[in-house]
Amino acid sequence: MSNGDEILDWSTGSEGIAYQRCDDCGHVWYLTRAFCATCGSLAVRQHQAAGLGRVATTTLVSRPPSEKWKEYAPYSLALIDADEGFRLMAHVERDARIGDRVRARYLSFEDTPIPVFMCTDP
Ligand SMILES: [Zn+2]
Repeated sequence: MSNGDEILDWSTGSEGIAYQRCDDCGHVWYLTRAFCATCGSLAVRQHQAAGLGRVATTTLVSRPPSEKWKEYAPYSLALIDADEGFRLMAHVERDARIGDRVRARYLSFEDTPIPVFMCTDP
């Protein structure tokens, strides 16, 4: 949850998902950039996402990329279309299907809160 002007993001150890929006053209995206890839503007700002979205694609990972993920395999990854208009890759509930409405929950993985999207009401 957002606390005043503080933007929380799981990649810096807080439960939350941050995204960026261009003040000039309105384009939104997930991974932090210093400028807007659509119009080149430097007027970009971080915002707090609500953690709600819809599954765009999903895949089951049977062969994890490293030893530390082995005990979790098989697990599902998905591209999530967030309500704010950006797309991110994230862990998702194993049974999630394309089109499912999902909400972010956070699981602690090596002291970092990892977002895992769980199915919720449409
Ligand atoms: Zn722009």
